[in-house]
Amino acid sequence: MSRFWSETVHSLTPYTPGEQPQIEQLIKLNTNENPYGPSPQVITAIAEANSADLRKYPDPNASDLKRTIADYHGLNINQVFVGNSSDEVLAHAFKGLLKKNKPLLFPDITYSFYPVYCVLYEIDYQQIPLRDDFTLNIDDYRIPNGGIIFANPNAPTGIALPLADIKTLLERNPDSVIVIDEAYVDFGGDSASKLINDFPNLLVTQTLSKSRSLAGLRVGFALGHADLIEGLERVKNSFHPYALDKLALAGAQAAFKDDAYFISCCNKVIATRERVVKDMQKLGFSVLPSATNFVFAKHAEHTASVLFEKLREQRIVVRYFDKPRLSDYLRISIGTDAEMDTLLDVLGKLVSA
Ligand SMILES: *Cc1c(COP(=O)(O)O)cnc(C)c1O
Repeated sequence: MSRFWSETVHSLTPYTPGEQPQIEQLIKLNTNENPYGPSPQVITAIAEANSADLRKYPDPNASDLKRTIADYHGLNINQVFVGNSSDEVLAHAFKGLLKKNKPLLFPDITYSFYPVYCVLYEIDYQQIPLRDDFTLNIDDYRIPNGGIIFANPNAPTGIALPLADIKTLLERNPDSVIVIDEAYVDFGGDSASKLINDFPNLLVTQTLSKSRSLAGLRVGFALGHADLIEGLERVKNSFHPYALDKLALAGAQAAFKDDAYFISCCNKVIATRERVVKDMQKLGFSVLPSATNFVFAKHAEHTASVLFEKLREQRIVVRYFDKPRLSDYLRISIGTDAEMDTLLDVLGKLVSA
């Protein structure tokens, strides 16, 4: 507390990122990072960009990267926005597109950053409970709103909402912007990006942090109607015009060019996930259907918070949310097969003890 803080700063409860512990030989399954490194082409591109040319500012419009992403998604360059992480892209969307005189709607359980942005940008919001099975009922969103946002597939549940439901939401809310946060879409979701030319009120955000193994590079992007993108550009150019540095631009572009590597990493993660789900079920866990690179699971007899602590003692870090409706569950990122074997081994001993 400081008397120098603004009223807004007094009112903030900042987002708590998953920890990055400095423990040796740790199996880190707590922040949904990709267990496989980025494409070797990304490393080469960043090494090449790491030159005396860094004395100059990067392209503030990030035109080459935008062109690459536009081509990848079959869109025009003016339908693409890029930012220094999808968290930043989302922040600009809250500031520029979701602050209205009616409440912003989002599920009670979804990415926990959304309420933080609402307080930061003084946006009125209403949380809509997911069903008991953690699925989203679009009929619960038939109320006056200044926008709707949720992650699809959702976090931390891993559950995907069918694209048909998103289409219905877009049709029912022609005067609201609907933001679909697709941080995990490459692990089994169906991207709403194919609806962009039909719905001027749709904004899709994605990140290179998870499926492209680049959490350390901080690159995210949004896809949408040119008017929505221009709104984001106006916020960005009033805040941080050179949002992406030269290394990030070079690395991100190379990541999109090496599609074969990307697809093979995603497929490996998905295959491991499917196996781990079956093995966890055999150990007595119920696991929500996951279309992501993590699973959300609870055990009938063992308390999640205790399992969390015991795993940690064995140098396995997962994520535990001490929050209503979530406190019975553990969120476990999908690591390599070897890491998951160790996890299953330790869990097996813990639940039979
Ligand atoms: C990881 C994550 C993000 C943030 O991704 P960054 O690009 O690393 O900031 C956004 N939304 C959801 C749902 C996420 O899980």
